[in-house]
Amino acid sequence: MSIDYQSLAVKGVQALSPYQPGKPIDELARELGLDPESIIKLASNENPLGPSPKALAAVKDALGELCRYPDGNGFDLKQALSARYGVKPSQITLGNGSNDVLEVITRCFADQASEVVFSQYAFAVYPLVTQAIGATGVSVPAKDYGHDLDAMANAVTERTKLVFVANPNNPTGTVHGAEAIEAFLDRVPGRVLVVLDEAYCEYLQGEGYVDGLSLLARYPNLIVTRTFSKAWGLASLRAGYSISSSDIANVLNRVRQPFNVDTLALAAATAVLDDENYLQRSREVNAEGMKQLASAFDEMGLDYIPSAGNFIAVDVGEQAGEVNQLLLEQGVIVRPIGGYGMPRHLRVSIGLPEENDRFIEALARALDTVSSAECGKGV
Ligand SMILES: *Cc1c(COP(=O)(O)O)cnc(C)c1O
Repeated sequence: MSIDYQSLAVKGVQALSPYQPGKPIDELARELGLDPESIIKLASNENPLGPSPKALAAVKDALGELCRYPDGNGFDLKQALSARYGVKPSQITLGNGSNDVLEVITRCFADQASEVVFSQYAFAVYPLVTQAIGATGVSVPAKDYGHDLDAMANAVTERTKLVFVANPNNPTGTVHGAEAIEAFLDRVPGRVLVVLDEAYCEYLQGEGYVDGLSLLARYPNLIVTRTFSKAWGLASLRAGYSISSSDIANVLNRVRQPFNVDTLALAAATAVLDDENYLQRSREVNAEGMKQLASAFDEMGLDYIPSAGNFIAVDVGEQAGEVNQLLLEQGVIVRPIGGYGMPRHLRVSIGLPEENDRFIEALARALDTVSSAECGKGV
């Protein structure tokens, strides 16, 4: 008799569905016989500028070291982060992307008896890592697509070990200001760890901006996670980190893979922290593109969720699946977010001005096609 190996997997894993990434350009090119050069991808919140020249130069310089294991302590990168953000190297935990850190945190502090609290519509990795270790995920209904921080504090029980807060959140782009975050932290007992996921914090500017790092001294149960994948433009190299108390970092460092960040990622991340100009341009291109898309949506009469990230979720109606398909056929990749319980929305990453234009044109055409098909049905 053949063995059903899926049934041997631990319970949480059996019920998991894999994380749905944005469709790669080459895959769409193969599927539809399109020229990869003609395809634009606005599906994974990547930086449309291409990598920083400083990061590229550092990668080239490091190529000769590929036969050696990376620096498992990430000395240079921790020094650079420490200098930039005014934290001790001992507070930093490096990860293979911040997803890695999120997983390590969950494995270190939660088990099958634990509850892990996160918001409805929050980043998909939180329920995924929670379920993988067999802990109970507690999804708290959102308020206007954002985290209902009061309800999340109320959801904390004796069994709660961790609360995930994405600020700004992906895929909704919603954000909370300093006051709301502090009021929330005041309500969470110190024995419950709060993970403040700041993957998009570099895009935040001006009023209401909350810098999780400034709260660490007051809230020792806080862990701030950040990444080089978005504003810093290094999504492919996989470098992220958390900043916490040294005590918590010490725990995380026991569980993380000793060589979880490779030499090229370490080199590029260290170098890009020096490229203030690149960061500035990332912010500018994003702010402009955000305006471009929002005003196009306004003109088209489409609802969208105001976003503090480098992406925006737009309500394209019940036919979102068809609209997405029609976009793909025009060589435009965005992200349907039905999997997040938002079947009417598409999440679009902010691109270069010409990419945004192409998306807007393709969207207008797709919506036309869908609405004329709808009319046709009624006749
Ligand atoms: C993109 C993203 C991350 C980071 O991903 P990595 O590439 O693994 O660093 C983390 N949290 C949120 C909310 C994100 O959108």
